[in-house]
Amino acid sequence: MESYSTQEILSVYTPPYKLNFTDYINCPICEIEIDIFNIIVDENTFIRCEDCEHTIQFKLVKF
Ligand SMILES: [Zn+2]
Repeated sequence: MESYSTQEILSVYTPPYKLNFTDYINCPICEIEIDIFNIIVDENTFIRCEDCEHTIQFKLVKF
């Protein structure tokens, strides 16, 4: 079974934008650091943990 979670990203920008204010996030399953610095994100962006293959969907929250 595939594991999946969401990660909120708070910013003042309208997507898509470059994640130049966050270096990495920790996988919620294996806690490995996943480098996300300078990736381009929009509402459909997700990343996969290389260690446990957990999928993290970004939820972009504008404030
Ligand atoms: Zn993991």
